[in-house]
Amino acid sequence: MSEVATYQLLDGKRCSEAVRADIAKGAVEVKSKRGRPPHLAAVLVGNDGASKTYVESKVKACEEVGFRSTLVRLPETITEEELLHRIASMNADPDLDGFIVQLPLPSHIDEERVTLAIAAHKDVDGFHPENIGRMVLGLDGYLPATPAGIVELLRHYRIETAGKHCVVIGRSHIVGTPMSILMSRNRYPGNCTVTLAHSRTQDLPAITIQADILIVAIGKPEFVTADMVKPGAVVVDVGIHRITDTAKKSGYRLVGDVRFDEVAPKCSWIAPVPGGVGPMTITSLLLNTLKAAKGG
Ligand code: NAP
Repeated sequence: MSEVATYQLLDGKRCSEAVRADIAKGAVEVKSKRGRPPHLAAVLVGNDGASKTYVESKVKACEEVGFRSTLVRLPETITEEELLHRIASMNADPDLDGFIVQLPLPSHIDEERVTLAIAAHKDVDGFHPENIGRMVLGLDGYLPATPAGIVELLRHYRIETAGKHCVVIGRSHIVGTPMSILMSRNRYPGNCTVTLAHSRTQDLPAITIQADILIVAIGKPEFVTADMVKPGAVVVDVGIHRITDTAKKSGYRLVGDVRFDEVAPKCSWIAPVPGGVGPMTITSLLLNTLKAAKGG
């Protein structure tokens, strides 16, 4: 197969704008029916700079679509029991439709216990086992935000998926594993033949080169190179990293798990970093919150 000369961007910013315009309309409807807009809370434990940035962008996105948002800032020193107590009261708060606890948490707190403590009907991040189970069975529930955002992005750009070979690199609970399940479901976007690769996979390039759709969630800057990509492939880069760049005023630039400059010319479509998956993750969170506000 010959190389394709041009590629198109899976533009998460533009797609998000379209979806968020509909979400804003939904927020107005909720407000007229319930007397208040959808309400999302975000819990931030400690002072991690990246987590603070993520949470603030979620809060800002809520405001832009007319949701109410509450940022719950808790000290690094909070005990697991205190945090669980706080979660229990948020579970019981009728004025709150959904909430997220920003990860990672300080090392003295068990993330699994915290995830399990969030009521499934308020778990708008879609991390609770009940929601993961519902996704696997194709039942209604809250989909994990990042994989759901990628699905939405593929739908928006009408990417053909049926019968395609989709290779997902990475098997985390929040990205790779649910992504592989969504791409194999018997619906659009889906119906792919899926290969899930991870750190024990042998000869990774021999597998990725077969991918019609390559979804990379590995957490290693610019890991995927042009020789690993099939000409004409659709590439979705989930990774996000700050790397030092003295030419930039900020002193850094953002890159993904894919070496964009050399991979993009081989692709039919590619999701850039930044501006690809990132905005879609927040949009999925808003969609889940709207769904929760409408009664699940
Ligand atoms: P993670 O929990 O660190 O998982 C990384 C996965 O990659 C693991 O399954 C690991 O395999 C696999 N892996 C590591 N080295 C590998 C190698 N050499 N070959 C093949 N597989 C390898 O990461 P994550 O939470 O899924 O996040 C992945 C990236 O996406 C990160 O950069 C993160 O910041 C980014 N992210 C972005 C968004 C967004 O909204 N844009 C959201 C979430 C995450 P093992 O399981 O064998 O260890």
